[in-house]
Amino acid sequence: MVVDGRAPSSTTTHCPYCSLQCGMRLERVGRTLQVAEWAEFGVNEGALCRKGRTATGLRGHRERLTTPLVRDPATGEFRAAGWDEALDLVAARLAEIQAESGPDSIAVFGGGGLTNEKAYALGKFARTVLRTSQIDYNGRWCMSSAATAANLSFGLDRGLPFPLRDVETADLVVLVGSNMAETMPPAARHLDRLRASGGRLVVVDPRRTPTAERADLVLQPVPGTDLALALGVLHHLVATGAVDEEYVAARTTGFDDVRRSVTAWWPEQVERVTGVPADDVRALADLLAAHPKAMILTARGAEQQSQGTDTVLAWINVALALGLPGREGAGWGCLTGQGNGQGGREHGQKADQLPGYRSIEDPAARAHVAEVWGVDPATIPGKGRSAYELLEALGQADGPRSLLVFGSNIVVSAPRASHVTERLASLDLLVVADIVLSETAAMADVVLPVTQWAEETGTMTNLEGRVILRQRAVAPPEGVRSDLDVIAGLAHRFGSSLDFPTDPEKVFAELGRASAGGLADYSGITYDRIRDEQGVFWPCPATPEGAAPHPGTTHLFADRFATPDGRARCHVVEHRGAAEVPDADYPLHLTTGRVLAQYQSGAQTRRIKELPDSGPFIEVHPLVAARLGIDDGSLVTLTTRRGDLRAAAKVVDTIREDTVFVPFHWAGVNRLVNDALDPRSRMPEFKVCAAALKVGGH
Ligand code: SF4
Repeated sequence: MVVDGRAPSSTTTHCPYCSLQCGMRLERVGRTLQVAEWAEFGVNEGALCRKGRTATGLRGHRERLTTPLVRDPATGEFRAAGWDEALDLVAARLAEIQAESGPDSIAVFGGGGLTNEKAYALGKFARTVLRTSQIDYNGRWCMSSAATAANLSFGLDRGLPFPLRDVETADLVVLVGSNMAETMPPAARHLDRLRASGGRLVVVDPRRTPTAERADLVLQPVPGTDLALALGVLHHLVATGAVDEEYVAARTTGFDDVRRSVTAWWPEQVERVTGVPADDVRALADLLAAHPKAMILTARGAEQQSQGTDTVLAWINVALALGLPGREGAGWGCLTGQGNGQGGREHGQKADQLPGYRSIEDPAARAHVAEVWGVDPATIPGKGRSAYELLEALGQADGPRSLLVFGSNIVVSAPRASHVTERLASLDLLVVADIVLSETAAMADVVLPVTQWAEETGTMTNLEGRVILRQRAVAPPEGVRSDLDVIAGLAHRFGSSLDFPTDPEKVFAELGRASAGGLADYSGITYDRIRDEQGVFWPCPATPEGAAPHPGTTHLFADRFATPDGRARCHVVEHRGAAEVPDADYPLHLTTGRVLAQYQSGAQTRRIKELPDSGPFIEVHPLVAARLGIDDGSLVTLTTRRGDLRAAAKVVDTIREDTVFVPFHWAGVNRLVNDALDPRSRMPEFKVCAAALKVGGH
C-alpha cells in the first residue's frame, strides 16, 4: 500500500510515559503516525492505556518548540535564536559564572524520563566538563526511598527482582500504596489473571481505588501510617508462629532484633495509629502466612513519605520473615513510576552515583569510571546535593547560580513548588531543554527544543529491570536537536577533548563499559540483543570472546543476596508518623496521586486533545462535605501551611473521612505539599500533610 506517495512503515518501540514501557508499533502512513498493537511484546501483549494510544498527539502539535528561545534582557520576552547563538550564549554565561564562583555554581537537573544514554551523557558532562558535584534528578522524588531500602536490605536495588508476569503465578499479592489499575492499566491484567486462577489480592490505600475494587481485602490506613501497619502484621506473624525460621536463620541477619522491636505492636495498637481495624491487620497477616507464594509490592503511597525508607524496610522485614524474597513466584518489589525511573538512577545523573549503580564515594568505582571517561579519578567531583536540597540552594550564598534542566518540569512537580519557583527566579541563568514551553521552560533564560520519543532511538529500563529499546520512527521537525547533540555541543564549546558521541548506540556501548562490574552491569547488552530478545534484564555482564553471552538475569536472589555475606539485612525501624499531622487549624490529611488520563507534571498529556483534562479536583468524604456545606462539584478552597488551591469538590465515599485527595498533574497542587525529607533517601513527603477545607473560592 502506498499512501500520499510514501510507503507505510512500521517500527516497534515503547510508550513515552510510565515505567511499564508498553510495547507498541508506530506506523507511518503518509504524513500521519499511528499507534498500533505490538502483541508479541510480553509485558503488555498489545494492550495500551489511553495515554499510550494517543501518544503521537504531540507530533506536529502547535505548541511544539522548533527553535531555541533566548530571553531578551531589554524586554524580558523570548525571541527566536539560532542553535549556535543559543549554545554560544549558554556556554559563555556558564564559563563566566564558574570563573567567578567555582564549579559548583552550575547545577544540572535531569529526569526519570530521559533515556539511559541521555542520563549517562548528562552525568558524564556534569562531572567531566562542568566539574560540578551539583547534579540530581526528579527520580529522587519518585521511589528513591524504596531504592535506599532495597540497597540496605538486599545490597541491590532493582524495582522488581522478578518479571512482572510472575504476579500471575503468585497465590497472594499485597499492593501497598499502588493504584495499578489507573496508573498502569495494562499491568492490571496480571492481577486479573491472578484472581482468575484463584489467587488473592489485598490493597492497602487510604482511597478505595479502582485497583482496590478488584481486591479480596482492602485496608485504608491513615496516610503516613503504612509503617505501623507493617509492624503490626509482623507482630502477628511472630505471635502466631508464622515466621519461616529456617529461612531467617539461613538467609538473613538481624531478625532477632526486629522480632523484639515489634513486640508492642499488637493489632489493637496498630488500629489506634492507622485506623485499620485490628481484625483486618490480623486478616492480612494470616493471609500472608497461608500463602507461600505471596508478593508484597510497594509504590508511591508508601514511599513518598518522610519515613519512606523505613516504611519500605518494614514491609521488606515482613517479606523476609516469611521467606519470600528469592522464592519463585514470591517476594518483595517496588512498582517504579516514571518511564525510566529505574535506568535513570543507574547511570550517573544522581548526586551520589556513578554509572553501573556505583557509589561516587567508592574509590574503585571512581577509578573504573574515570578510565572509561579518560580522566583522572581525582577530578571527578564528590557527592552533591539531593534534588530538593539542590533546588532550595539555588541563588543562595553558597548555592548554584545557574541551572541546566533536561526532561523535568520542576515548577509543577517539586514539593512546596512556589518556594522552588522563587529559587528558580533568583538564578543568574536558567537553561531548559524540552519539547514544549513547560511551566519551567517558561521561566528560563534560554530554551533548547529537543527531540521527543518517536523521533529518536535510545534505551529505557522498565520496572522489571528489563532494558528495552525505543526506536526512531520519524525524523524530528527541522530545528530540533537531540539532548545528546545539546550535551555534545556544550562540551565542545567548553573546549573538552573528551568524546561525547551523538549516536545513541555508541553512547550505550560506552555506558556498558562504564557499568561493567557494577551492580547494574549492562556490559553484555547490545541493541541487537534487545531487539532479538524483547529486552534484556540486568545484570548482564559481558563474557570473554568466544564464550556464550550472559543470558541476563530475570530473577534475583534465588541463592544469595547482593550483600558481602549473601544474606539479607533485617533493619529495626520505628514508626515516627508524618512530619505534619492534623490539628485544629488544619484538621484533614491531604494526599496526592495520579489520574488515568494524565502523566506526571502533565506537560505532555495536558496538550493531547484526546485526553480529558479535568484540572485539579478535591476528593472529599460525604460526611465532611455535609459538615462543611460542600456539594459535589462546588468550588472549595484547600489550604495547607504552604498555600491554597481552589478547585471543584468531588464528593466520594471511597476516601477516608479524615483525608482529602488531589491529583497532582497541574501547576499549583504541589505548592501545598510538605518538603519534609526522608533522612536516608531525601525523598520529600508528597503523600501526606495537614490541610483545611472550606466552601467557596476565598
Ligand atoms: Fe504507556 Fe504506561 Fe499506559 Fe503502558 S500503562 S500505555 S507505558 S502510560
